[in-house]
Amino acid sequence: MSIQIVPQDELADGKNAAGNIPPVLFANLKTLYQRRADRLRALAENSPLDGYLNFAAAICDAQQRVLKDFPLSIDLSEELEKAAGKPPLDCSLFPRTPHWLTLLDALIAVLKPDASEPVRAVLERLEHSPNLQREMMATELLCQDFKHVPADKAPFIWAALSLYWAQMAAQLRGVGRADYGENREFCPVCGSIPVSAVINAGGLRYLHCNLCESEWHVVRAKCSNCDEMEHLNLWSIDDEQATVKAEACDDCGAYLKLIYQDKDPQADAVADDLATLLLDDRMEDKGFSGSGINPFLFPAE
Ligand SMILES: [Zn+2]
Ligand SMILES: [Zn+2]
Repeated sequence: MSIQIVPQDELADGKNAAGNIPPVLFANLKTLYQRRADRLRALAENSPLDGYLNFAAAICDAQQRVLKDFPLSIDLSEELEKAAGKPPLDCSLFPRTPHWLTLLDALIAVLKPDASEPVRAVLERLEHSPNLQREMMATELLCQDFKHVPADKAPFIWAALSLYWAQMAAQLRGVGRADYGENREFCPVCGSIPVSAVINAGGLRYLHCNLCESEWHVVRAKCSNCDEMEHLNLWSIDDEQATVKAEACDDCGAYLKLIYQDKDPQADAVADDLATLLLDDRMEDKGFSGSGINPFLFPAE
């Protein structure tokens, strides 16, 4: 297994760059989780990570079901009014309602019957944790303070928070905001960070939010972490035509994976990122650190 650098012309902007590029794309929740679950299972088939990919797929299935059973309808016009160029659903400030705890309990109820013994034990501990403690863990995850949140509980808490934020973001769809700027390392909808970036069928790069599932456009010629343009390289394992590559910046030392949906339309920002942990290992060996966080893989304590 070798890691290699790929030609610079891949860093060029998409051909539509001069045209009308939507700054933000909201997720289609009707299909998002099902597609992700299907993709995770497909990737698991030939992967040494199959156990974990199938575990993540089960959580996505549960998200799809809970989404349907617990719809959310809220009026966000006040948040939009106040936002004025800042993320309207700012993850570190937004006053959460108990709806997310309802989602968490519902996810636990869906997952428990088919869970393995160790996973069921985690789900039961989470189920019986006082709401105050669950709120504290949520706040810590949302503020990227991972030390006090047990790594076995974090993916379930995040799955509920992410579903909640995605439900809220879905209500902003069509509201039309004109003040999404360029050059962002954070999600313009909720202020969280990317999982990875996708290159869509038109060759444009959108960063995919690890919380609200929105995607925001960032031109391909610059680092999505520090805006520098000079010292960017793309890395891939073995294959220049790989569906997943890492874009690394020598200026800030960060890398973020690029998921090429133009090469494989089934590719998913979360699933394909999770399935390519070997590429993360290689990038870290080279001294780079990831600027994205996968919702199924929070940094170790
Ligand atoms: Zn977001
Ligand atoms: Zn950079």
